[in-house]
Amino acid sequence: MAVTAQDISAQIDRVVGAVPTDLFIGGQWVAAAERIEVENPATGETLTTVADATPEQGMAALDAAVAAQVSWAATDPRERGEILRRAFELVHARAEQFALLMTLEMGKPLPEARGEVVYGAEFLRWFAEEAVRIHGRYAVAPSGGTRLLTMKQPVGPVYAITPWNFPLAMGTRKLGPALAAGCTVVIKPAELTPLTTLALAAVLTEAGLPDGVVNVVTTSRSAAVSEPIIADPRLRKLTFTGSTPVGRTLIAQSAERVLKVSMELGGNAPFLVFDDADLDRAVDGAMLAKMRNIGEACTAANRFLVHESVAEDFAQRFAARMAALTVAPGYAEGSQVGPLVDGRSRDKVAELVADAVDRGARVLTGGKNIGDRGWFYAPTVLQGVSTEARMFGEEIFGPVAPITTFASEDEGLALANRTEYGLVAYAFTQDLSRALRVSEGLETGMVGINQGVVSNPAAPFGGVKASGLGREGGAEGIDEYLETKYVGIAL
Ligand code: NAD
Repeated sequence: MAVTAQDISAQIDRVVGAVPTDLFIGGQWVAAAERIEVENPATGETLTTVADATPEQGMAALDAAVAAQVSWAATDPRERGEILRRAFELVHARAEQFALLMTLEMGKPLPEARGEVVYGAEFLRWFAEEAVRIHGRYAVAPSGGTRLLTMKQPVGPVYAITPWNFPLAMGTRKLGPALAAGCTVVIKPAELTPLTTLALAAVLTEAGLPDGVVNVVTTSRSAAVSEPIIADPRLRKLTFTGSTPVGRTLIAQSAERVLKVSMELGGNAPFLVFDDADLDRAVDGAMLAKMRNIGEACTAANRFLVHESVAEDFAQRFAARMAALTVAPGYAEGSQVGPLVDGRSRDKVAELVADAVDRGARVLTGGKNIGDRGWFYAPTVLQGVSTEARMFGEEIFGPVAPITTFASEDEGLALANRTEYGLVAYAFTQDLSRALRVSEGLETGMVGINQGVVSNPAAPFGGVKASGLGREGGAEGIDEYLETKYVGIAL
């Protein structure tokens, strides 16, 4: 049945209207003197406003997290897990509301937003299960006598800063392990997409989370609110997902206090297609690796490195698939590509394309803005992109696929590693030895072999080089929120 404009606007009003829009501090919804407008990137219209916290209110959130820390750490692991499990179920029960909310504030097509609900909720379930599996070690010292006891304890209050591109999953990927470990949290979502985190806080409360264990601070003054929190000796951990430049600033601020940090930063993923690749799979993988989240993912394939013998065939097939995508508001029936998150992001994408074209790239499809309402950019494939083009070194963060060719495995690998980033790489080959050789040679935290998406709540997500420090998800994810204490016991 066709969805009318009226249906949609009534649905939008209902879903947005149900989200609490004040600050969440110590279990209370707290108003702020100023408000931030939240925009729908498909129309440029304001969806609603949320509280704009002052630095004092940020500190009040830290006070609440500190006050709740001791009792939360002492809560039985099973109880912490049960709360996370109930939150997982509640997110699923409200899957459609969460999905539409993300589509509205961030722009992604509804089917992808539904996918993020499943992915994001899974971190709550995964860490609900990990909460009861925190354990240490007991050993006899090699020289005998002394016994070595190793225990794991929650690090303490955590400050979590999240980006706008995966509003639910970036929150649950931090909250799940932090809460499972027994840490309390102040979370600051991106100012472009605060609504999903606020809705998640309401879900956690309904799931039985005690007051003060999670506190949400929405603000347009991220630096001014964050600095005093990071400088406060009661804070024990900073976990950040966002761009590398902001990550560098936060590491510098944390260095003063030697604050424990996890950093999930930018990426510049190479997508390698070797001469022995199954090209059908490679094109399917390319569509996912490039177009998931409209290209606005840290894991997005940023450079397509294709063996010269298959480059033309790959480029033509890839361009045909990209040209056939339906670009429309994410909540419109059949939308496959939504708008970019804001005008600034779209201008940056257009600038990078113009630069690549200036340096000799050929536009196979796309290469332009779409429409005069919202921030739409056409799915784009560029062939013959120079390694000197800006997009070879910078995150594109949009639906643009640059193709560069290589002549040998060694050259492909060297090009893949020619970046300061090291988050993820993709490689397509049917040769097992090559897949292993290349996986070992890639300077990244993650590798996808013959697949265009690697993110999985049960696997450790994270990067090397300028892509960050630490891992989220998997068995490793909870370790980031635990201290190891060693106790030597003389017999
Ligand atoms: P961003 O760095 O601009 O902002 C991220 C968060 O930091 C936001 O909440 C923002 O308000 C806040 N922030 C900005 N300046 C700050 C400051 N001085 N002090 C404290 N907080 C500050 O990034 P973005 O544009 O929101 O997100 C896109 C970036 O995130 C891309 O670079 C992308 O690759 C990266 N990202 C990485 C991962 C990963 O897991 N590695 C996942 C998603 C996104």
